[in-house]
Amino acid sequence: MTSTHDDFVLAIHGGAGTILRSKMTPEREAAYHAGLRRALEAGRAVLADGGAALDAVTAAVMALEDEPLFNAGRGAVYTSAGKQEMDAAIMDGRDRAAGAVAGIFGPRNPILAARAVMEHSGHVFLIGESAMNFCRARGLSFEDASYFYTEQRWNALQETLAMRNSGAEDQDESRKHGTVGAVARDRKGHLAAATSTGGMTAKAPGRVGDSPVIGAGTWADNATCAVSGTGHGEIFIRYAAGHEIASLMRYAGKSLEEASRVVVMDMLAPVGGSGGIIAVDHTGAVSLPFNCSGMYRGYVRGDNVLRTAIYDEPMVEFCQG
Ligand code: ASP
Repeated sequence: MTSTHDDFVLAIHGGAGTILRSKMTPEREAAYHAGLRRALEAGRAVLADGGAALDAVTAAVMALEDEPLFNAGRGAVYTSAGKQEMDAAIMDGRDRAAGAVAGIFGPRNPILAARAVMEHSGHVFLIGESAMNFCRARGLSFEDASYFYTEQRWNALQETLAMRNSGAEDQDESRKHGTVGAVARDRKGHLAAATSTGGMTAKAPGRVGDSPVIGAGTWADNATCAVSGTGHGEIFIRYAAGHEIASLMRYAGKSLEEASRVVVMDMLAPVGGSGGIIAVDHTGAVSLPFNCSGMYRGYVRGDNVLRTAIYDEPMVEFCQG
């Protein structure tokens, strides 16, 4: 999927994992596609206007955080203690500026918290209560627990805890996945990546996954690629997934598609790293590999066709405007 002209491109994901067709109704499937399209359109509008990749990935991730179907912001999953702890990161491929937050609850859009850290804190990574105080001082919008609550996530926690308590919890980490992310190349050729998540259902309080870890779930460097991951975070951290893709391009001369498939299929999958990544490179190529049953995903270029898919299937095309 390479662009032939100096064009923009935006790719997004809404999480990967065990997405059972048996549990998918036509209405639900349509709602996921519509949610993905809204996020693509939010980012596309920025890029079509000549805006920066950084602003496009911010806009796309905000739209996904606002959509309760996805595990980030509104609709985030619960920890084993019945709380929501959110992680997010953003990275600018122009100069590798980066910002991240972990273990926060309250900011309506965790990606704005990550961006505020990048732009205003003098640091890269803030966590917990102090990160929240920083967000308050920056004037970010906050919401209460009722805004973030969804019955679906609460029930998923109860089911997982019941299995755990009866000693019958399966080892299928992919069942508990979810995250949102966006990567973009703007018309000037600059890259950016953003990722936001509630983490994994019934995670231990204080657990942080790969999403906010720069080089693991989020990476952007104009010289190589922008990457956002979704999957079993512990494995993505240990294999430095995002940075590994960039390194295979930089030092081994691999294409974006080759590098991202090597990492997702050959490195992560055999060691329990179920999930996938979305990536774009400086030439405008796009890669969207995943090693589990599905990944909510999509991309758009300057032709304004919003392409979305869930399973290993042809993408649904929707012409914007
Ligand atoms: N990678 C996320 C985490 O481990 C979860 C996911 O993407 O599904 O927190």
